[in-house]
Amino acid sequence: MYSKKDTLSWQHQTEQLLKKQHSQAIGVKEVDTLRGVLRFHEYRYYVLNDPLLSDFEYDQLFKSLEKIEQEYPSLITPDSPTQRVAKDLTRDFPTVQHLVPMLSLDNSYNAEDLRDFDRKVKELSGLSSVVYCVEPKFDGSSISLIYQNDLLVRAATRGDGEQGDEVTNNVKQIRSLPLSASFSQWGIDEIEIRGEVLINKENFERFNQSLLQEGLPPLANPRNAAAGTLRLKDPTEAAKRKLEVFVYHISYTHATKGSSLPPSLQTHAGSLDLLWELGFRSPHREKKICQNIEEVMAYCLSYEALRDELPYEIDGMVIKVNDIGLQESLGMTSHHPRWAVAFKFKARQATTQLTGVEFQVGRTGAVTPVAKLDPVAVGGVMVSSISIHNQEYIQEKDLRIGDQVLIERAGDVIPQIVKSLIELRKGKEKKIVFPTQCPVCKSQLFKEEEEAVWRCINIECPAQVVERIIHFVSKDAMDIRGLGEANIRKFYELQLLHDIPGIYTFNFSALENQEGFGKKSIENLQTAIAGSKTQPLHRLIYALGIRFVGETTARTLAAAVDHLLDFEKFSMEQLLELEDVGPKVAGSIHHFFSNKDNISMIRTLEKLGLSLRNEKKGSLPAGNLSGKTFLFTGTLPTLKRSAAEEMVRSEGGIILGGVSAKLDYLVTGDEAGSKLEKAKKINTIRIISEAELLKLLER
Ligand code: AMP
Ligand code: ZN
Repeated sequence: MYSKKDTLSWQHQTEQLLKKQHSQAIGVKEVDTLRGVLRFHEYRYYVLNDPLLSDFEYDQLFKSLEKIEQEYPSLITPDSPTQRVAKDLTRDFPTVQHLVPMLSLDNSYNAEDLRDFDRKVKELSGLSSVVYCVEPKFDGSSISLIYQNDLLVRAATRGDGEQGDEVTNNVKQIRSLPLSASFSQWGIDEIEIRGEVLINKENFERFNQSLLQEGLPPLANPRNAAAGTLRLKDPTEAAKRKLEVFVYHISYTHATKGSSLPPSLQTHAGSLDLLWELGFRSPHREKKICQNIEEVMAYCLSYEALRDELPYEIDGMVIKVNDIGLQESLGMTSHHPRWAVAFKFKARQATTQLTGVEFQVGRTGAVTPVAKLDPVAVGGVMVSSISIHNQEYIQEKDLRIGDQVLIERAGDVIPQIVKSLIELRKGKEKKIVFPTQCPVCKSQLFKEEEEAVWRCINIECPAQVVERIIHFVSKDAMDIRGLGEANIRKFYELQLLHDIPGIYTFNFSALENQEGFGKKSIENLQTAIAGSKTQPLHRLIYALGIRFVGETTARTLAAAVDHLLDFEKFSMEQLLELEDVGPKVAGSIHHFFSNKDNISMIRTLEKLGLSLRNEKKGSLPAGNLSGKTFLFTGTLPTLKRSAAEEMVRSEGGIILGGVSAKLDYLVTGDEAGSKLEKAKKINTIRIISEAELLKLLER
């Protein structure tokens, strides 16, 4: 899409604009350049996954464009980067007719099926050899895209294949999809492109986490998440879910008389390349042209082995006859094209029986029902229990004890129950009864009005106390090795440990006659506990387990004070001023520091020698690496990546997410990856070793 020369030129224009922006001098005249620059960086980020600009700078340039367009609305073009997210809610999703029916694919599961397919293609065509193009079968929601006169004018879901729902507003915010593309260079004035909308695994997990935090049930798989997002009425909400799209088929073209279409459109592989050249994300690199069906089979199997490594879900491969002329003569049945077949990977779904439900009490007192299952293998992992989240979830899915349930494990994502197989009920299945009392301490459970979870609000509830201690010592919190979950439960039962401060007054001599504790392990535990007293403040804040305060928020909070107890005096307004702290999070922090018991526990911790000061804050300007940016690649000889990053941060350095012109230092270890290659191309980046980093830190 962008040649090397184009890339350099856009990069140069970006720098010019950034300079002008500094002196607030981006003007109306620059509006086209500004759009070009933004499009270029969207492409680098969303299609190539290889950004050259920080998010911050992108946002700044984006805002400049918005400002100009606000002042001069007549300058707005329909394909301006600002036009992706509609301002208004979508009222309805009108039903629209597809230009060409959107068919399903025939399935194959093994070499035999594939050979059958090959045989039929040869029989029908009378050819003795057929070339195929093989590409991943993306596991998302299919979409039809119509461009007229180079502009995206309509996006629709598959629906029943003949008619779908128009979802243009939500599709426009998919930033890897160009809002315009120059089809007109070949006289094409209308074109329909097919593709798959999906959510990558990481964004899916993040989205499910956010649902859980709000007490809402998570979704079973990224496919459902993508389909659901396309139908959201609020385009800004849809934008947050970060949909992506792969396009893999041109289903219709209309060209003005006398124009000649590009020859690449004569093969499927050629059309994938062409789409890629026009700025679309097509599987042009993922595809393979195969000379015969045995080669096809080998490619499918090699790709299946890669499945877990991919950032998005695929559920198989699609095999297509490469020659478009041949595709047309083969035609289709009422159900599927005769020139293509799907090769399905091993299912990640399984059915099993729900044999019972256990109710677990977490550290915040939330009571979570956990379904016990007849153990079953799903995608290579044995599953015997699955969280079923809350009462509403159970009702909505109508889960009953004794039911046969369909479960799914999407990649590394935690398995979920997709549904109960109601048809298989025999009448003996039992409703799941939610307890009214805490299963551990027997106190009455409560539920806040807008929340879905029931909670035990007895702060002394043994279940909660133990979970809080487990969280406090965990790896990302105070990181006290040797005080694992099993030991904590044991010490609690033996009445050796009843609360967090108890960790620091622990009676080690009581362990001497306990089985499994030698002199050495007791010493190690002692050292680990003592060592944790000087953990940086953000770790302590995270360790306290304040609701909605994850590691990132903990860092923000730590940076905002000199001493932890400064938060006692913080108002809601002050909290809300902090980065990424919304009303819900602020409310929770405020609540935590208004509680006398919490304050007294924190004071006790200080008396016991824990550091509650923000050591960094006073020394930040003097930090050796203040303001310098770093990135790591490969395995370092002695330091763990996380430890090295922490050291850089503690000296005021900033860790970046990728290689860009913003990067000052790339620290490389063994088997450095593609980041190194990229960094070598930018001559302002210094490439250093661990030893050199340590020198920088000492200086
Ligand atoms: P199925 O729903 O199992 O019948 O499979 C057909 C669906 O696979 C199509 O409707 C597309 O949404 C989807 N699909 C995913 N990747 C591809 C691809 N590379 N080529 C064609 N269809 C695909
Ligand atoms: Zn309880």
